[in-house]
Amino acid sequence: MIDGEGNQAVVGSSQAVISAGDVSVECLKCGSCLSVCPVYQKLLTEMVSPRGKMALAEALYKGTVGPKDVVASYLSYCLMCAACVQECPNELLVDSRIIAARSVVSRHLFSNLPYLAAFRTLLQKRSLMNVLASGARALGRLLCSRVPHWSGLRLRFPLLMPTDRLLPALAREPFLRAVARRNRHAPEAPGQQARFAYFVGCMTNYVYTSVARRIEALMAEQGVVLDVPVQQKCCGMPAIAAGDLSSARRLALHNIDLFLRTGASKVVVTCASCGSALKHYYPMLFAPGSQARARAEQLAARVVDVTELLVDELGLRRFSADCGLLERLGCESAQRKLRVTYHEPCHLVRRMGVSQQPKSLLGSIEGVQFVPLPDADVCCGSGGLFSVHHYRLSLKIATEKARNIISTGADVVATGCPACIAQIRDGLSHLHATIPVVHTIELIGSASTGASQTGSAAN
Ligand code: SF4
Ligand code: SF4
Repeated sequence: MIDGEGNQAVVGSSQAVISAGDVSVECLKCGSCLSVCPVYQKLLTEMVSPRGKMALAEALYKGTVGPKDVVASYLSYCLMCAACVQECPNELLVDSRIIAARSVVSRHLFSNLPYLAAFRTLLQKRSLMNVLASGARALGRLLCSRVPHWSGLRLRFPLLMPTDRLLPALAREPFLRAVARRNRHAPEAPGQQARFAYFVGCMTNYVYTSVARRIEALMAEQGVVLDVPVQQKCCGMPAIAAGDLSSARRLALHNIDLFLRTGASKVVVTCASCGSALKHYYPMLFAPGSQARARAEQLAARVVDVTELLVDELGLRRFSADCGLLERLGCESAQRKLRVTYHEPCHLVRRMGVSQQPKSLLGSIEGVQFVPLPDADVCCGSGGLFSVHHYRLSLKIATEKARNIISTGADVVATGCPACIAQIRDGLSHLHATIPVVHTIELIGSASTGASQTGSAAN
């Protein structure tokens, strides 16, 4: 298949280059995917179901329909959650096929020209992103971030954003800028070889900097050298999801080269979406047999989630809670165990294959009782640009997640993706619930192998 820019759109499985024939042959039209698609379950419209979008993609490839706004509109109804992929008896990579189809209609997708411009300039230049983030932070104080949806203050700027959306506040200073400043004052000793490298990701860099500081502290405690390359760029997931494959390839090539040059044996992520880009999507951006594909696969093999690193790589089994955080969250853990539940980010569970490690880690934190969450692996409704363009629908999915969380009686929700944190906080705020949502590793104070002692591992 040829994408909107005349390039071959390579977004299939390990060997696949998508072609028109693939879709028509592989989708059995069986409908097994319908029951698990969060978007179809809410709208009950065939054209937004995985099967419907596959039929649309097939028609697009065959030229039966053109890349018009209406086609792009149906294709925009996908969260990239991959629940359908897991369910499909034919193991069809539906999300990848949707990306390929989006690459053909990208000019019409999400009324997309401003986004395409952003993917081609903003995401490629960290300095530009920093300037924009500073401006947005100043504005953000006015744009009612952190103001709950029932507050009248949200009516101050009704034209600029959904007045009832709870947006996270931007950090005072981007994490990577702080690292660059620190490096200038205390440069790394020459010849020091990093054991692990950290891919920070934009949301952690600009919003949830406490997560980045936590992983640094945990690695320092273990005596592990953690390299944080300050020239790293956006993982490109927004461009991948929007079908802007040339922007995505440019970002991928930069990050692949940068992280392979560190010589690190593992590249650790604290963002499930970044992890899925590096581990799952990067190789599929390049033709099988090409040098770029080989290098992308080399990087993919090294990418691990932070909980995998702590539990599998470092063999840590005992954890103490971060008392400072618990105090800030207003948790009174002295009286009883803190009840913590866990939302499984789609990209972590289905694209990185990580599910057991975060749960066993949470269950091993001293003073914590792990409480299972019903439908823990069902998407929270974030889906990147999906939540911007289909906010009401995205919110419906988020409030369902929030209801499940409330039903557990948990004091705190942990998860492994910054986008899920923001989305779930918004969902909870719409139900007037004040349950804190944190990244899994933010709950950890310190860690040890605890060779002679056992923790209360979660199921
Ligand atoms: S990836 Fe998720 S939202 Fe998209 S079609 Fe599949 S199940 Fe539906
Ligand atoms: S489960 Fe797979 S084969 Fe069946 S309709 Fe959905 S995408 Fe097609």
